[in-house]
Amino acid sequence: MTTPLRYIKGVGEVTGKKLEKLGLVTAGDLAGFLPRRYEYKNEIYMLWDAPEGQTVATVLTVCSAPTLRHGGKGVSYLKVCATDGVDTATLTFFNQPWLEKSLVSGRKLRVWGKVSRGSYGLDITSPEIEPYSDDLPAIVPVYPLTKGITQQQLRRIIRNAALCFEQIENSLPDSIIADYGLMQRREAIRTLHFPEEKESLERARRTLAFEELLVFQLALRTVRGTLSRGEAVAMGYKDTGIGRFFASLPFSLTGAQERVIKEVFADLCTDTPMCRMVQGDVGCGKTVVAAGAMAFAVKNGMQCAMMAPTEILATQHYHSLKGLFADFGIEPELLTGSTTAKEKKRIKAGLADGSIAAVVGTNAIIQKDVVYKNLGLVITDEQHRFGVLQRAALADKSEGKTPHSLVMSATPIPRSLSLILYGDMDVSVIDELPPGRQTVETKCAGEENRGAMYAFLAKQIEKGRQAYIICPLVEDAEGGTDDKKSVESYRGHFEKALPKARALCLHGRMKSTEKDAVMGAFERGEADVLISTTVVEVGVNVPNATVMIVENAECFGLSQLHQLRGRVGRGEHKSFCILMTEKASPRLEVLCSTNDGFAIAAADLEQRGPGDFFGARQSGDSRFVHATTADLRLTEETRALASHLSGEESLDPRLRAAVRSFLGSLGSENIFN
Ligand code: ADP
Ligand code: MG
Repeated sequence: MTTPLRYIKGVGEVTGKKLEKLGLVTAGDLAGFLPRRYEYKNEIYMLWDAPEGQTVATVLTVCSAPTLRHGGKGVSYLKVCATDGVDTATLTFFNQPWLEKSLVSGRKLRVWGKVSRGSYGLDITSPEIEPYSDDLPAIVPVYPLTKGITQQQLRRIIRNAALCFEQIENSLPDSIIADYGLMQRREAIRTLHFPEEKESLERARRTLAFEELLVFQLALRTVRGTLSRGEAVAMGYKDTGIGRFFASLPFSLTGAQERVIKEVFADLCTDTPMCRMVQGDVGCGKTVVAAGAMAFAVKNGMQCAMMAPTEILATQHYHSLKGLFADFGIEPELLTGSTTAKEKKRIKAGLADGSIAAVVGTNAIIQKDVVYKNLGLVITDEQHRFGVLQRAALADKSEGKTPHSLVMSATPIPRSLSLILYGDMDVSVIDELPPGRQTVETKCAGEENRGAMYAFLAKQIEKGRQAYIICPLVEDAEGGTDDKKSVESYRGHFEKALPKARALCLHGRMKSTEKDAVMGAFERGEADVLISTTVVEVGVNVPNATVMIVENAECFGLSQLHQLRGRVGRGEHKSFCILMTEKASPRLEVLCSTNDGFAIAAADLEQRGPGDFFGARQSGDSRFVHATTADLRLTEETRALASHLSGEESLDPRLRAAVRSFLGSLGSENIFN
C-alpha cells in the first residue's frame, strides 16, 4: 500500500505530478480515493421508458449511415440514427468527427445519455458510447478529477493498482465482521472501485461506515471518560458584580436569554464540569449569554477561552466582546492563525502566567504550545464544526481541574441525534427573538426574473442599503462555463448588470488579512455589494445589509440557506432574501413559508438525511468519509457495541490503534492513555 504510484503501470512522471494534485502519492492513497458517484449502467432502459432529463443507459443498434456537417468556427456535428428495436433516436455528437468511422450500420452500442422527446422524435445529444458486449462494467465509478486526467485514465490506473489492494488489512476483529454481516476491508475497498451490483456496493459502504462510526464512538467514550473524571472549580456570585455587566447592556434581555443565563450560572456554581449546549436560532442573541458567562468566570478569577470555526467569526466575536466588556474591566485578546508571531508570543505568555483572562480565537487556541494557567470556562461557537473531541482537547489543557464547557449552536440538532453524538450534554434553548425583529421576506426566482432582481437590488442600493450575493464556488469548476456559480466570474457579470454598484469579493481562499480588510470595508459601508462564498454564513453582523441573494440556491441545504438569510434583517430596515434557481425547486419553498429555524432543520433532515450534522463535508474537513447521519441505525449499533467493548478488559489492538490515530488526527491523542 505504500508503493509509490510511479511504479504502477500507466503512471509516468507527468501523470504522477497530476495525481499528486489530487493528493494521490501511494497505492494506499488510490485505495482510499473515493468515487464521487456512480453511473448505474446496469439498468438498461427502453427508449420509450427512459425518464426525461435523466442520464440513463440504453442499448441501441446503429440503423443509418452517419452524417457529418461542419458549422462555423470549426464546429462539427455528427448525427446518426439508432434503434432499440422498438423506437429510433437521433444521436448527435459535437466536435467528435472521428466517431464517424465506428458508427457503422448494425453496430450495437451501449449509450449513456439523456433521452429527450423533440418535435421530430427522440434525441440523445452528446452521449457517451461504447461497443456493446456482455462483460461491460455495469456500475461505473466517477472520480473527482484534475486538469489533464480523464475518468478513463484514472479508472485504468486504479485497475492497475488493484493488486496492491490485496494487502489491505482489517481494522475490525473478525468476530465483529461476522456478527454484523460486514465485508473484509479489502473486499469493501475493491467493491467501491469495481462494483458489480448495487447490493454489494451498499454493503461495502456500510462496512466502511461502520468502521468509521465505531472508531468515532470509541473515541467519544474515551474522551467523555476523561471529561467526566475531572472536577471543576465551583464559581460563586460573591464580589463578581455580575449584575453590573447585564445592567450595562444597551438592551434588556429577552425572557429566554434570562432563563438560559440562569441555567448556565447554576452549572458554573457547582464543581461538576458544565457540559451544556445553548441552541437558538440565528439572531436570538447567544453572544451576550456567552459573554455573561465569560465575565462571570473572569470575575471568579478564572481564565476563559472562546473558540470559533473561522477567523472572520473569531474576529467578530472579539470585537463584540470588547464592546460588551468595555465598561467591565475585561480585556479580551484575539489569537488566530494569522496573528503575528510577536503578538502570539505575547498572548501565549499572558495565558501561561494568567495575566490574560479572556481569549477568543480559532483552533489556534488549542494548539499544543498554548498553555493556560487556570482555564475555567471553554466556549465553542457553532458546535457541529468542532465537535466534542476538539472541545476535549481544550479541556485537556487545564491541569488538575476540568474547565466548564459551553457550546453555542444555531443548528437545532434533534434530541435523538444529539444524544447519540454528544451524549450527556445538557441543552438550553433560546426560543425567543429580541423584540422588533422582522421576518426576512423570502422569494424563489428563476433566470427569467433576473432582470427584475437586479432592478430591485439597484433600488435598495439607491436607498443606501447593502446586499450580499452568495455563489457556491470560489472559481469555476474544471471546464465549467457557468458564470453565476463562482465568485470570481460573477463579479464580471455583475459589473455589467449594475455598473454603478460598488462590489467587493470575499472567499475562503483569500488570506485572512485580505478577508478582514474586505469585511471591514463592507461593514463601514464602503461597498454596496459583497459577492461571497458561504464564508459569511455564520455570525457576520452588518445591520445595514438588507438583501441576501443566493445564486444556484439548489446547491445548498435548507439550514444553510436559513443561516445565510440570517445575515440580513439585523437592523431597522425591511429585509429580503432572493433564492435564485435555474429550475423551480419545491424543496426551497419551505424557506419562503417559514422563518422558524427548527421547522427548517426538520425539513432539511427529512429531505437529505442528517448528513451535515456530522461535520462540514463541503469544507473538506469532515471526520467522516463513508458515514452520513442518514446512518442513524448504524450509529446506534456502533454506539451499543462501543459501550459493550469498553466494558471489556482490553480493546482489540487493531481497534485501539485506529482510535488512537483518530484522536491523533484531531490533535488530542494525549487524552488517550
Ligand atoms: P446569535 O444568536 O445569532 O449569535 P447575536 O448574539 O449575534 O445572535 O445577536 C444578534 C443581535 O441581536 C446583536 O446585534 C445583539 O446585540 C442583539 N441582541 C441580543 N440580545 C438582544 C436583546 N435582548 N434585545 C435586543 N437586541 C439584542
Ligand atoms: Mg452567533
